[in-house]
Amino acid sequence: YCKLNGRNHTLFFSETMEEDYNENLILDADIRKALHNNEFELYYQPQINVITGEVIGLEALIRWVHPKKGPVSPAKFIPLAEESGVITQIGEWVIREACHQHQTWVKQGYRPIRIAVNVSAIELQRTDFAEKVKKILSETKMDPHFLEIEITENSVMQNTEECILTMNCLRRMGISLSIDDFGTGYSSFGYLKQFPINYLKIDQSFVRSALKEQSSAAIVKAMIQLAHNFGLRVVAEGVEDEDVLTLLKAEHCDFYQGYYYSKPVKAIDIENRILKAY
Ligand code: C2E
Ligand code: MG
Ligand code: MG
Ligand code: MG
Repeated sequence: YCKLNGRNHTLFFSETMEEDYNENLILDADIRKALHNNEFELYYQPQINVITGEVIGLEALIRWVHPKKGPVSPAKFIPLAEESGVITQIGEWVIREACHQHQTWVKQGYRPIRIAVNVSAIELQRTDFAEKVKKILSETKMDPHFLEIEITENSVMQNTEECILTMNCLRRMGISLSIDDFGTGYSSFGYLKQFPINYLKIDQSFVRSALKEQSSAAIVKAMIQLAHNFGLRVVAEGVEDEDVLTLLKAEHCDFYQGYYYSKPVKAIDIENRILKAY
């Protein structure tokens, strides 16, 4: 119990908590099976240039259809996989799958497109992380310039110095880096310039409320200006309608992602809807 509940050693267990605990144990065993049985799939969400409307990249997002429970959200199983450590294997699968998909498209004659993968703190902090990525790149023969790694703001705030070393290593390999969910974590703006990153992704909570709340609009505006002052480019997440896009355009945001353009879709849909035209 203590391990699963982290710092909370003096919890009282209600029935629902026990159920949660059992459920989590089952899920963890299932995650290991899922890797083995190929139950994971990557979906891809286009990233768009705010000015030109061009697709400039894709974010790979993991999907899992559990044989009995049906679809399980990554927001639910990724934290469990982090807790148990199996995230390392999932993460390796994600990177390999994305690189492999990229190369498949290149072989089919499509113009290469940048693919961003999400990497959790646990993966990034492993001393062999950069080495593993390098190995996958050489196995799949993917050009590292088309690979981007997204790291959440909070994960670089743990063991910041080691993370920066790894990040420098990845950059030297030609990989680009972005800070994901920016604004939700505990870092201060001052930290930003220490990180060898290319992109800042503004968290969707600010983007989605930018039209309703003055404070969110002000935060979005400040983040864009700050990122630009640091020479970073900005991706706004969670753009669901045209009015938000108009606001982002006015604030000189570079790129956006969101349901307004497309939800994350299967590789085949990217091929049919985007690569064939692009
Ligand atoms: P994230 O990396 O910040 O990904 C963005 C999430 O927002 C995705 O949810 C995406 O489907 C969703 N989204 C995109 N546009 C919109 C929009 O316009 N409106 C709304 N309401 N949502 C939008 P998803 O795929 O459920 O992933 C949730 C989180 O799970 C991700 O957040 C990421 O932190 C994690 N995750 C997903 N795939 C992976 C993975 O392969 N590895 C790791 N380590 N984490 C992953
Ligand atoms: Mg992301
Ligand atoms: Mg995000
Ligand atoms: Mg997120």
